[in-house]
Amino acid sequence: MTDYSTSMRTDRCGDLRVDDVGRDVTLCGWVDRRREHGEHLAFVDLRDRSGVVQLVVDGAQDLRSEYVLQVSGTVRERPADTANDSLATGAVEIDTAEVTVLSVAEPPPFPLDDRTDVDEVLRLRHRYVDLRRPRLQRNLEVRARVTSAVRGAMEEQGFVEVETPMLIASTPEGARDFVVPSRKEPGSFYALPQSPQIFKQLCMVGGVDRYYQIARCLRDEDLRADRQFEFMQLDAEASFVSQDDVLSFISHAVSAAAEAVTGEGLGEIPRMSWQEAQERFGSDKPDIRFGMELVELTEAFTDTEFRAFQASCVKGIRVPGGADVSRNRLDDLTEQCKRWGAKGLVWMRVTDDGLDSPVAKFLTDDEKAALAMTLEAEVGDLLLLVADERRTVRHVLGLLRLELGRPPVTEGGLHFLWVVDFPLFEGLDEAGNPIPAHHPFTMPHEEDLETLERGDLLDVRSQAYDLVLNGWELGSGSVRIHRGDVQERIFSILGIGSEEAHAKFGFLLDAFRYGAPPHAGFAFGMDRLTAILAGEENIREVIAYPKTQSGADPLTSAPTPIDDRHLDELGLRVLPPVE
Ligand code: ASP
Repeated sequence: MTDYSTSMRTDRCGDLRVDDVGRDVTLCGWVDRRREHGEHLAFVDLRDRSGVVQLVVDGAQDLRSEYVLQVSGTVRERPADTANDSLATGAVEIDTAEVTVLSVAEPPPFPLDDRTDVDEVLRLRHRYVDLRRPRLQRNLEVRARVTSAVRGAMEEQGFVEVETPMLIASTPEGARDFVVPSRKEPGSFYALPQSPQIFKQLCMVGGVDRYYQIARCLRDEDLRADRQFEFMQLDAEASFVSQDDVLSFISHAVSAAAEAVTGEGLGEIPRMSWQEAQERFGSDKPDIRFGMELVELTEAFTDTEFRAFQASCVKGIRVPGGADVSRNRLDDLTEQCKRWGAKGLVWMRVTDDGLDSPVAKFLTDDEKAALAMTLEAEVGDLLLLVADERRTVRHVLGLLRLELGRPPVTEGGLHFLWVVDFPLFEGLDEAGNPIPAHHPFTMPHEEDLETLERGDLLDVRSQAYDLVLNGWELGSGSVRIHRGDVQERIFSILGIGSEEAHAKFGFLLDAFRYGAPPHAGFAFGMDRLTAILAGEENIREVIAYPKTQSGADPLTSAPTPIDDRHLDELGLRVLPPVE
């Protein structure tokens, strides 16, 4: 047990129990609530990080919400009829003898209980008050425990923590860089790291054969519930290893984190190929907490007369008991599917009299039977089908599945999944150059090197893998290219010419000339992992000082303009905003 006593207090408010009855204690904290009790007495709940305890005070004292107090008194048992079972300290109260006001406070800008929904900007503007709420205190503790467990697990496995710089040249993670102007070299800029990727690979060349860092990464992307401009990741790299070794290191770290929060470690984390994830869940980050998998129906309609199903791929999902979904909702879902890229959505209700659907009359009895059998349809179900090119079908049905079936983040337990064998390229850009699915340092699958040389780029698998938790992408990694010639070849396939490659990553290619070990690595988001372990849908709830959805910080008002003198020093001029 940690000893929380200091020169100003003997105990923490939330720690007092019946066993403490009779003890004289001194406590410090904030006034949480005050209730008048008769003419001369008042009850004050005193709060600190550990929780609240009830004080009985002289009603004449001026003790208002959020005043900071030091109180001395005796712990006594509450009369049975006033005990509060929902409170850890609910069986006791403090008969206060002395109260010192350490700080007075203005009324708080919003109520601090966890039941009131408060506007987020207001919360963030007064984050120091917001942080006093039990929910945030708990989340910060969960976060600290996760960080410490991950650190411990990496160290136990012989990883050495190495710090890498914040002011660097660009790292290609596919997002926009945040840049910092140089005063010494006006017109030149540093990039803030999107990840320590290149530095950790250089550590491998430098003989640090197991590197890790809990690293701050910055990416200038639109913010979402699971994304902030700056985030923390467990970043790791190791030499003389295979994909299996990396998966094992990282599994160990996330298991330690889960155990630190839930008391229970993880068993073996299952693996699924990217291909299978796409076919069964229409996603590269499948939420495997629930079924409603995508079912292949293409064969059932090879000879169909029904135009809409004369497509290269037909798939469907079964919504158990979904037949009572209203017509309006089905129309909305159809529109939604169109926005996601489908030509439309076919729905069928499974009734006692067969399939009820606007398209039922266009299908043969055999087709209907095959469809019902393949989808294992039962009376009362709703069947949803999309026909199109395969990628579109998977994408749209994958999103529809989430829309209709995804449980809240706190439900269904922790379902980790390794998604392996990602394609090397995820498509072609407008100029016809392939877009790397991971970053350009990813090693192609050995078996697919020939396919690469043949030029069937989109069929080439890579030795890249993702870790998924309850449908959130937690992180990714890969076996790296450690040979300069292969790396140059990949750059050239990506349309990065030799000159550009040398300008951007010359130092990495140079390093590879001096003896690079085979290496592989991984990184996962600490914010995302903590959010799910803390049962939060939004990572902002597990970050002490996050930005709003628009990227602003209402607390410090960042970002702010800088004055002309400062701009001059940096050799910068600000143009008027573009209309
Ligand atoms: N640098 C990658 C990322 O931040 C992870 C890795 O490949 O190790 O996503």
